[in-house]
Amino acid sequence: MKDVPCHPLCIHRAEWIVPGDGIVISDGAVVTFGGKIVAAGAAKAIRLSYHGKTIDHGASVLIPPLVNAHCHLELSPLKWRLSPSSSFSSWVNSLVEARSRISPDEWLPAVMSAAKGLFEEGVLGIGDVGNLGIASRAMEKKDFPPFSGIFYREIIKPRGEPEDIKPFETGRFPKGKNGAGAAISFGLSSHAVYSASSQVIIRTKAWDRERRIPFQIHTAESPEEMEFVVSGTGPILDLLEERGHCITREEIPGCSPVRYLYRLGVLDSDTVCVHAVHVDEGDLEILKRTGASVCLCPRSNLFLDVGIPQVERFAAAGIPFALGTDSLASNDTLSIFAEMSSLASLAPTVPPGCILTAATEHGARAIGLSEIGVDAGENHPAPMGRLDPGFRATFLAIRADGIRDGEVLEYLVHGVTGPDPVSWICDPLRGA
Ligand SMILES: [Zn+2]
Repeated sequence: MKDVPCHPLCIHRAEWIVPGDGIVISDGAVVTFGGKIVAAGAAKAIRLSYHGKTIDHGASVLIPPLVNAHCHLELSPLKWRLSPSSSFSSWVNSLVEARSRISPDEWLPAVMSAAKGLFEEGVLGIGDVGNLGIASRAMEKKDFPPFSGIFYREIIKPRGEPEDIKPFETGRFPKGKNGAGAAISFGLSSHAVYSASSQVIIRTKAWDRERRIPFQIHTAESPEEMEFVVSGTGPILDLLEERGHCITREEIPGCSPVRYLYRLGVLDSDTVCVHAVHVDEGDLEILKRTGASVCLCPRSNLFLDVGIPQVERFAAAGIPFALGTDSLASNDTLSIFAEMSSLASLAPTVPPGCILTAATEHGARAIGLSEIGVDAGENHPAPMGRLDPGFRATFLAIRADGIRDGEVLEYLVHGVTGPDPVSWICDPLRGA
């Protein structure tokens, strides 16, 4: 990974640019000034209108920064400690057991290493979820990558536990910034419909809504979750009862997780249903009507053998989908390039441009960073997700030697592995 610093007015020319919507412009250029993009398009037209220092990135593709809209950095010490599973509930038990064996001095270095790896592979936006406080401690360190996005304190409070969510409000960052000085918001999330009571889900969503923070909840991830929420039986019930929770009949939703969340009134355009593997036509209709979006984590789903997301149906229904990796307890890397490749393989009829949009613009939307015009203040940086005027002047040059015009999107989705082809332009570490 190499870094290219920013200049006052700078024209970044490359063999291709992909500003958004999967549109590829050959011999393209992006003009930056004062930390924002002022123009993007064909290099020939840009040269007629702008004069400034030109940096030629040669055989590269300029794309917006990537977003990992759902991860759990705090579980990074569990890398390689859990095996692919055929049962979600047995994986949960293994996770709890393996977590108890991590020694105190392993946590922080593992989280820092995973975070730096994310950044080296082109991720600038994150929706990180944790409940141990490890990742938020890492975020306060000066050498933590300058991610923007949201750190969620996750609430697990099944039925029968006190419904007060106030104790979870701790852990905000001083002045809303992390150690590297980048803006990161603090939010609350509910773990899932089976592990948080209806009142906890409603209160958590209300807390986020008041602060204009998108709300996240794991939704319809496994067949075991579906069995529990629909029938009140199965391994999830055993899991809850083993932990001392006594579940009565009237506490079972009796419908799909999406319908249940709709009934609770928590689905809107600022709600992100994470995973959404098991959704039917009625669920899709609800997501479409409410404007709620989904975040897909295909490699975690494959690791846990819980099913695969129906990408074609989301694309056909016009439901925005973002990409996440979940954690290193159910994935071998936190690479969004790897996630794009997996999703594209699972859904070969979905255009690669649509997959790239999931990893950029829709990811930024899922963490509340895609809106232009909501400028404002140091804690709300310019939006990311596109190479358009007004968006932040921090983006990626992906080296693409030997790639031809018609192959650019395929290459971005399937051909980028590891950090070597990735360079940051206007590296945020250098205060662009
Ligand atoms: Zn998760």
